Amino acid sequence: MSYLLKCIECGAEFPQGEGRTECDCGGLLDVVHDLSPLAALRELFDRRLRSWEPGNPIFQSGVWRFRELVLPVEETHILSRPEGNTPLYRSRRLSQWTGVEDLILKHEGENPTGSFKDRGMTVGVTHARLSGAKAVACASTGNTAASLAAYAALAGLPAIVFVPQGKVALGKLAQALAYGAITLEVKGDFDSAMALVRKSSRELGLYLLNSVNPFRIEGQKTIVFELVQQLSWEPPDWIVFPAGNLGNTGAFGKALAELAELGLIGRLPRLAAVQAQGANPFFRSFLAGFSRRERVEANTIATAIRIGDPVSYPRAVRALKLTDGLVVEVSDQEIMDAKAQVDAAGIGCEPASAAAVAGTRKLARQGIINRGEQVVAILTGNLLKDPQTTLAYHQGKLEGIKSTYANRPRAIEPTLEAVKEVL
Ligand SMILES: *Cc1c(COP(=O)(O)O)cnc(C)c1O
Ligand SMILES: [Zn+2]
Repeated sequence: MSYLLKCIECGAEFPQGEGRTECDCGGLLDVVHDLSPLAALRELFDRRLRSWEPGNPIFQSGVWRFRELVLPVEETHILSRPEGNTPLYRSRRLSQWTGVEDLILKHEGENPTGSFKDRGMTVGVTHARLSGAKAVACASTGNTAASLAAYAALAGLPAIVFVPQGKVALGKLAQALAYGAITLEVKGDFDSAMALVRKSSRELGLYLLNSVNPFRIEGQKTIVFELVQQLSWEPPDWIVFPAGNLGNTGAFGKALAELAELGLIGRLPRLAAVQAQGANPFFRSFLAGFSRRERVEANTIATAIRIGDPVSYPRAVRALKLTDGLVVEVSDQEIMDAKAQVDAAGIGCEPASAAAVAGTRKLARQGIINRGEQVVAILTGNLLKDPQTTLAYHQGKLEGIKSTYANRPRAIEPTLEAVKEVL
């Protein structure tokens, strides 16, 4: 089993085992697997899923179960919590609200640190340690920092995280500090933190764990692998998900390309990437037929996708072209109302994740998602990540946002009379 690294821009190839995460030309790298000797993979993956061997990450992790298509390393080198194995939910309420009868939610917020970032991080940190990294680093809107901090602790490596000061949801910042990362609050936005960490990692020899890192992409592919496996290898018609730095968009496209090449699926679902209106560079590029790469100054309540200059743009364009995909934008109002619906269904998610559900509703209303089509919406992060925004919505205290589905707390006197009055 082997792989090599290949530059998306200039085509340069690098052998397995190099510690690099970017090409010398600055281009993004792809992990290219040698898929030819792989037979009977479906049986192998299904067997691992059925037989949980205690303590073995290849059996317990929804990432490493697919090791042959992720990172072929020896079991003893794998750093795993374990991650993945996230549930599929159906909800009458959400089917009605979105107008999509056959709606399935895959909850990536139920990963060990509360977001899908764990799937990429288990692979990235495993590779970092294998290649002899002395310290790992990332820029983050919060979840990447939380995840990196946790996996670095598992690896016994120091972690340095760069976050935009004052723009990180409470739960995520608390996690980064608690898991022991050196936390640098950069006076600027995410995009400036990203530029700074890239420069710092080149100059200071830090191993970079943003989604420019090709091994993170390999881990995030398993959202699609696992999802298709859960659907008995019958892909849905649509996969709808929030898009910020576009790592997932690229990863989903690569996952589908590989599944198709291996004959594990017979057709490709369409990808629908959802952006917030105030952070919509990819939507703008989509409208221009991907003839140019757009950058914006990003602003949205959904801090996880508050990104104006997404680094995985070339991967994401490739993914949408492959799958006849599209990009849709939704307002912060639509995001928060969708979140209130997901939360009230008893499922719950953070604001960015709700963009997937808001986008699903919009596409159904526009008649782009057809009646009878099966849609899987990816919930990327946990409800508990951003308690402040949730509380403010239900208390009617979000600036510029109507609390359409508010469930207000009610203060009462400590008497039975007062309880009766409320009920
Ligand atoms: C990171 C993140 C996103 C954005 O994913 P990209 O791969 O950067 O497009 C969306 N939602 C949540 C909760 C995230 O943490
Ligand atoms: Zn290159």
